[in-house]
Amino acid sequence: MTKRIALVVLLAGGLSRAQAQTTILRDPEIAGMVKEVNPDSLRSYIKTMVAFGTRSTVSSTTDKKRGIGAARNWVLSKFNEWAAASGGRLTAVVDTTTYAADGRRVRSNINLGNVVATLKGTDPNDNRIFIISGHLDSRRTDVLDGTNDAPGANDDGSGSAAVMECARIMSKHSFPATIVFVTVSGEEQGLLGSTYMAKKAKAAGWNIEAVLNNDIMGSNNSNETNVIDNTRVRVFSEGLPYVDTGRLAERVRQMGLENDSKSRQLARYVKETGERYVDNLQVVMIYRPDRFLRGGDHSPYQNLGYTAVRITEMNENFNHQHQDVRTDKGVVYGDLEEFMDFEYLRKNTAMNLANLANLAKSPGMPQDVRVEVRNLTNSTQLSWKAPAAGSPKGYYILMRETTSPVWEKKIIVGGTEASLPYSKDNYFFGVQSVSAAGNESLPVVPVPGR
Ligand SMILES: [Zn+2]
Repeated sequence: MTKRIALVVLLAGGLSRAQAQTTILRDPEIAGMVKEVNPDSLRSYIKTMVAFGTRSTVSSTTDKKRGIGAARNWVLSKFNEWAAASGGRLTAVVDTTTYAADGRRVRSNINLGNVVATLKGTDPNDNRIFIISGHLDSRRTDVLDGTNDAPGANDDGSGSAAVMECARIMSKHSFPATIVFVTVSGEEQGLLGSTYMAKKAKAAGWNIEAVLNNDIMGSNNSNETNVIDNTRVRVFSEGLPYVDTGRLAERVRQMGLENDSKSRQLARYVKETGERYVDNLQVVMIYRPDRFLRGGDHSPYQNLGYTAVRITEMNENFNHQHQDVRTDKGVVYGDLEEFMDFEYLRKNTAMNLANLANLAKSPGMPQDVRVEVRNLTNSTQLSWKAPAAGSPKGYYILMRETTSPVWEKKIIVGGTEASLPYSKDNYFFGVQSVSAAGNESLPVVPVPGR
């Protein structure tokens, strides 16, 4: 029953977790792409987006210079520019639909459109899809006003610019799995574009393994405290999946898995991978689907059972969000470029890129991951099957104490089973596939098996 255990990487010790991983595990190809993320590129995208005057979802879709239609066409033209250099692997469309007046935030029928660029995976046997999303639309204080200026530099020019910069850099590389770069519309009218896309994906049977939704992540300057801190960014994840069969909640309760949902595993992965590749950035996990009683473009995916997280700056400034541009008693309101921090946006974009690249380069997740429960014992026997896609060099067994938010120990194993001298009563476990270059799949939590 003794299995090959090649290496034990202890993350505790003299170095912080991030430093230890930086030393051990950077993939040079990903580190190279991370270096290419450019604050000037990000700034130029946002300047152009703001120059459309308004990007309200209920603004003109036919005006060549002003409104959401012109903005959509411009994002498409940038995707197409990069597609031309990708050898035909990147393709882009504006995916449109008619959204009927709903009497709430849409008062007459509109042409709703998401700008979608797809970097097709190179492995025909790999149907995995990883999505990065931002919302192109902006809003005024009155969400029904599609006429007057709504710059939307940070909300969500920041997320849209991050999506574009990742597409620019990553389309020069190839990945076994598919990456979709999307700027949606209709977020401010009620998550219309992301709902349209998530439902379409579900109906088409897309194997989406992760969605990174970026919304408001290019400034970090609370209106209450004036604290400027560009070293921390939040990742929100749901603990209990919205889609539940009853059976799932029962297992979560019985095994104490309230902190091990798929979206929370993704959040943990985003933190670890982001901190591995981006210096001076701490990814702070928030154990909530979104900010208090609010939602975002990851929600429609989560509601259909997909794994998704929201990435947002640490301190929002509500003077600069959903506000008409104006000066009132000496205070400037409005979502303007001048309030943004492009070095912060560079780091947050790089953090996304590192995660997308590491996921899309990784082998598929191990299948049928089980923990042996035939006999009562103070050790732990795990077994699994090779993934459907890719050929892993090995597997990481992840371990943490039940009170720890992050994985504490990684054990590299060559085969598809392992016997560990640690009690399953006292630790949580997960298993990841890992490539020769050290790219890990998302982890799978073992289920009881015999
Ligand atoms: Zn937003």
